[in-house]
Amino acid sequence: MPNTTVVGAGIAGVACARALAAAGVPVRVLDRGRRPGGRMASRTLSGRVTDTGASYLTAADGSPFADVVADWVARGLARPWTDTFAVAGPDGVERTTSGPVRYAAPGGLRSLVVDLATGLDLAQEHAVERVEPGPRVDGEEVPAAVLALPDPQARRLLPGDLAGRLLGEREWQPSLAVVLGWDERRWPADLHGAFVHDDPVVEWIADDGDRRGDGAPVLVAHTTGATAAAHLQDPDAAAPAVAAAVRRVLGVGVPPAWTHVHRWTYARPVEPREEPFALVEGIGVCGDGWRAPSKVESAWTSGHLLGTALAAQLGARPGSR
Ligand SMILES: Cc1cc2nc3c(=O)[nH]c(=O)nc-3n(C[C@H](O)[C@H](O)[C@H](O)COP(=O)(O)OP(=O)(O)OC[C@H]3O[C@@H](n4cnc5c(N)ncnc54)[C@H](O)[C@@H]3O)c2cc1C
Repeated sequence: MPNTTVVGAGIAGVACARALAAAGVPVRVLDRGRRPGGRMASRTLSGRVTDTGASYLTAADGSPFADVVADWVARGLARPWTDTFAVAGPDGVERTTSGPVRYAAPGGLRSLVVDLATGLDLAQEHAVERVEPGPRVDGEEVPAAVLALPDPQARRLLPGDLAGRLLGEREWQPSLAVVLGWDERRWPADLHGAFVHDDPVVEWIADDGDRRGDGAPVLVAHTTGATAAAHLQDPDAAAPAVAAAVRRVLGVGVPPAWTHVHRWTYARPVEPREEPFALVEGIGVCGDGWRAPSKVESAWTSGHLLGTALAAQLGARPGSR
């Protein structure tokens, strides 16, 4: 029989698989993408890595995830980026706001998931089509199955009644990440990033050169859900309006030299659940639709807690297999 199977190698699926493996449960991870990471996505554009999904991550003091992040920082994979961002309206920056330390990754956020997946039995470019009671994954019986996916993607794999029991009905909203490159930096050196309110097009702008630490003249703007929804069929067509909005908000006089658009059809749940995961008859679901608010830290925690609970259910002990 194939091993306990985790579908999805985003941070939730990898955290779940690590918890299972640490408890001695043989586990495999299947992901349809070319590389692990999911929405912690980094892509080489114009000769350098750019974060095109999550912008940064947070870690609550004293939490188990804080230990994971501290280890990444100690090994130079992650670094504290900033605790202060600008707050802007459609016509310009108004003030700054401070919050928790945000961490970034010099090699791009995807590199952190790749690191976490080291040593796991992980198959990429393996799209799963069906998870059924048994549990069965694409017709094969497994000891247990985990879907570490956005709800709409998990729902497609499950029979309707089981999808209803595990997931209910929750809406997810899209976003476009628009990367904008200039010949030189043309915005304040201490910008870091900007939350944009009341703008119909853009809701967040990150200084990618600042967060990645190489000072490259590259910004990444995330659109509002409405703008993304209007451009799902032709995301590239949104680039001019996003560039215009970013230039207006930051007062940049010159158009970007190049742009790149990434579509996130399921960027985030409209309303994530408070519960950490669901587990019914050996089939579990986890990810950032759980353990609100929806973010990297929650996705890791959701996957870790599901993996720990599943290992206990399967009767595993560290080193027992
Ligand atoms: C634009 C954007 C900005 C964000 N900004 C932030 C931020 O600044 N800070 C923060 O903390 N969080 C942010 N987030 C949220 C953060 O990215 C997510 O919370 C987190 O990455 C979710 O991880 P996950 O493992 O739950 O899901 P995902 O990362 O979506 O992983 C799911 C995986 O499942 C795979 N998959 C899907 N279907 C199948 C299938 N049928 N078979 C096999 N594999 C499949 C996918 O390839 C993917 O690798 C942002 C998200 C987006 C989209």
